[in-house]
Amino acid sequence: MTCRGVDAAVERVDLSRLDEGEFPRCPHCGAPMRPLVLLFDEYYDWHEAFQAHRARRLLDDADVLVFVGTSFSVGVTSLAIRSAQVSGARVVNVNPERAPFPGVAELNEGAEVVLPKLAEAAGVAATFPSRRPGPG
Ligand SMILES: [Zn+2]
Repeated sequence: MTCRGVDAAVERVDLSRLDEGEFPRCPHCGAPMRPLVLLFDEYYDWHEAFQAHRARRLLDDADVLVFVGTSFSVGVTSLAIRSAQVSGARVVNVNPERAPFPGVAELNEGAEVVLPKLAEAAGVAATFPSRRPGPG
């Protein structure tokens, strides 16, 4: 959740009175809290907690842009792809489902299979949690 007062992420929020209809308040300033999500008609730039300026810098400097599990149906993916087109970064989508998009290479396997291989190929030491047992 974020604080409306300072627009910063707050890690611990008292939800004990939520059932009584009392919205959680920021432990620092007492302002009403909001979920750390982008609501309709909002832009990432409007909330410092999303660090949109930092994301843009990273996108501008990226050599490779890896999406994981996107269907490209949200606007932020288009923004990222436009940035990659301008900078010349390669774009890959890791998704077991096909989601063709112009200029985007697809790796149609699960992230738990592809990401460890990508990390190894990039020489990045990474740990990945083992897959949780599912219902089937
Ligand atoms: Zn606050």
